[in-house]
Amino acid sequence: MADPELVDVVVLGLGVGGEEVAGRLAEAGLTVVGIERDLVGGECPYWGCIPSKMMIRAANALAEAHRVNELAGSAEVRPDWAPVAKRIREEATDTWDDKVAVDRFTGKGGRFVRGSGRLDGPNRVRVGDQVFETRYGIVLGTGTRPSIPPIDGLADTPYWTNHQAIEVEELPGSLLVLGGGAIGLELAQVFARFGVRVTVIEAADRVLAIEEPEASEIAAKALRADGVTIETAVRAERVSHDGTGFTVHTGDRGFTADRLLVVTGRKAHLEELGLDTVDMDATQRYLPVDERMHVTDGIWAVGDLTGEGAFTHIAMYQAAIVVADVLDHMRRTRGGPDASGTASVIGGAAGVASAVGGAMSAGESTAPGRVPVADYRALPRVTFTDPEVGAVGLTERQARDRGINVQVGYTDLTSSARGWIHKTGNAGFIKLVADADQGVLVGATSVGPAGGEVLSALVVAVHAAVPLSQLRHMIYTYPTFHRAIEEALRNLA
Ligand SMILES: Cc1cc2nc3c(=O)[nH]c(=O)nc-3n(C[C@H](O)[C@H](O)[C@H](O)COP(=O)(O)OP(=O)(O)OC[C@H]3O[C@@H](n4cnc5c(N)ncnc54)[C@H](O)[C@@H]3O)c2cc1C
Repeated sequence: MADPELVDVVVLGLGVGGEEVAGRLAEAGLTVVGIERDLVGGECPYWGCIPSKMMIRAANALAEAHRVNELAGSAEVRPDWAPVAKRIREEATDTWDDKVAVDRFTGKGGRFVRGSGRLDGPNRVRVGDQVFETRYGIVLGTGTRPSIPPIDGLADTPYWTNHQAIEVEELPGSLLVLGGGAIGLELAQVFARFGVRVTVIEAADRVLAIEEPEASEIAAKALRADGVTIETAVRAERVSHDGTGFTVHTGDRGFTADRLLVVTGRKAHLEELGLDTVDMDATQRYLPVDERMHVTDGIWAVGDLTGEGAFTHIAMYQAAIVVADVLDHMRRTRGGPDASGTASVIGGAAGVASAVGGAMSAGESTAPGRVPVADYRALPRVTFTDPEVGAVGLTERQARDRGINVQVGYTDLTSSARGWIHKTGNAGFIKLVADADQGVLVGATSVGPAGGEVLSALVVAVHAAVPLSQLRHMIYTYPTFHRAIEEALRNLA
């Protein structure tokens, strides 16, 4: 076994969060080893956000083309999956090859190691026969994998996860989607719009169960209009595959289809990370972090792994904090009595200071050490169905459960000027959740053709705790979808 090699920082897992941290620390002049066992960039560019949104863009183009018949003449639409699969293969993923991403990281000065790594005691990471010892710390960004429920028979079948659904070149005739969350609904609608007979099976009593009930209702209605069968409050008890098709057994019913897509959540695999070597519990669902992403001394975590929200924007937000904190930690260590000669920073103090400053701007509040801390009050999320379901902060239920003196304001998008003009495809609403005592919004939902975009105004309102009195006296452009926010404010009660 080779002696441990001393480096400044090791980043384990180069998904969205890890790649950002590793690249920025390398740019700041630290010796950074980035370890990735699969593809640099992780889930988002290869099997998540980007290809799924390309699929949605194509499916929405089909839906808009159908709307020509109601608005602008007639259109005959013949869906073809081939251009979508080609775009994902060639434009999004380079046929699932990460050379560009690896070059991007090494171009910033990082050192890339392909392999599966794990902690190997304090300040150490092992990957194969190599052991790295770190001067300043280790950043874990190992993400999550699909969480596959322990349903009788399921493990023995060739079910799909998001990977196979994104990589598909030829669509099946029919598809069962197990899980009616954001990913399940997005993919269900896409495939239905391309002619697949889709059934969504959800154990909760509504789809999009973590969002407002009104959002669940409108999303279910939209998918049903696209031909999707939605079964809620249905628990899959057994799954079988007869060589050609799947059956999901639920009590006395059975649902059959050519393919089965399992999208029932995600899980961090902590047991693989060697946490026991640093006296940490590896049996949890996620790795808890503090407001600066500290796991324990010398270890930070970033992204889905932390359980703070499985979104690329959360991973990037946390990454900025980690970069600032690692650099701050390094600055303090170097200022110490015996660390000055060991750091390999080539950017010098000025380079480090500017890197810290740059990272700080992404954070919310700053602590005495000038490092931002995480603030998830205004966590935004969008389910990119048609209509889009955007939400920020607390739902009405969550706000009431927290004992907040809640006021709710609701307005239907179809009754707004823009919704009425838009006509077909105009389903949506704005729902505001206000803290009446504080006079601010604590949550909001924006559903509509541009629900995710309209959300941005509401994110600012929640994030900056803009007084309701100010929101009421703003000027909202006529006739936009976001102008419905003004009406919802008027309806707060
Ligand atoms: C279908 C789908 C659609 C999505 N759409 C959106 C969206 O529209 N918007 C949005 O914000 N988010 C979306 N997400 C979520 C988003 O993809 C994730 O939040 C994001 O990828 C998380 O980044 P991460 O860095 O935490 O982890 P990941 O992207 O999961 O990356 C972790 C990396 O670590 C590597 N790794 C794990 N263990 C080891 C090890 N021991 N050694 C070496 N490497 C290791 C993995 O191979 C992986 O590359 C979507 C997800 C899916 C599945």
